[in-house]
Amino acid sequence: MHSTPPIISLVIPFLNEEAVLPKLFLRLSEELARIPGYHWELILVDDGSTDGSHQAIRRHRSSFPGTVRLVQLARNFGHQPAVMAGLRACRGDASIILDADLQDPPSVFPAFLEKFREGFEVVYAVRQNRKESLWKRVAYGSFYRIFRRFADVEVPLDAGDFGLISRAVRDQIITMPERDVLVRGLRTWVGFRQTGVPYDRPERDAGETKYTLAKLIRLAAAGFFGYSTLPLRLATWLGL
Ligand code: UDP
Ligand code: MG
Repeated sequence: MHSTPPIISLVIPFLNEEAVLPKLFLRLSEELARIPGYHWELILVDDGSTDGSHQAIRRHRSSFPGTVRLVQLARNFGHQPAVMAGLRACRGDASIILDADLQDPPSVFPAFLEKFREGFEVVYAVRQNRKESLWKRVAYGSFYRIFRRFADVEVPLDAGDFGLISRAVRDQIITMPERDVLVRGLRTWVGFRQTGVPYDRPERDAGETKYTLAKLIRLAAAGFFGYSTLPLRLATWLGL
């Protein structure tokens, strides 16, 4: 009997990434060529871009060794809602979520897939070191540590959305009705067998960050209001 290779969906949300998209396609075609035995599906989620991202995709899409699909959002909803839209569009046996700017290096995919073959349904990447501005490192580092102190779920330290989830986990996550969603929170909350793999987070390959301070604060708030009863308890005590 011969079985068909598993399909892996890559979910990549982007906002105005014309500077980096050509490099992303190049890297993906190089790295995926080294990972035989899978079919690949690329889900690009345009979170309201106004630059030349579409032209860049049109020019380079044929270099991707699999199916390419573009999900167009009607405006800029933010990275987390864009990830959710991408997950809803996936048809693969597993999904890998990554950023467009190559800070989530495709060279980690083999480690994800090895754990997936071992039976893990969530494999998240854990940053060993971050080549980013001091304020961002301090901001992220303190966020995860404070969040862990107050959250009602055990969210792993220094792990973002970069990682693999099985179809079963994806099916659970996409049924969640949250509007201000924190994907890494839901991913922990749903359970299943989970594990982390270490990696070094490089700098953004090209272009500027699209995560403004306001967007980062919104992300932190989604974490606190979604996964901790602290805000509710505080409000209750203040009310009393
Ligand atoms: N992004 C998005 N919508 C936004 C902000 C960011 O889709 O409103 C995308 C962005 O294009 C990138 C990923 O989310 O693919 C991570 O953003 P970025 O690299 O700018 O954040 P940083 O790494 O600086 O925290
Ligand atoms: Mg980045």
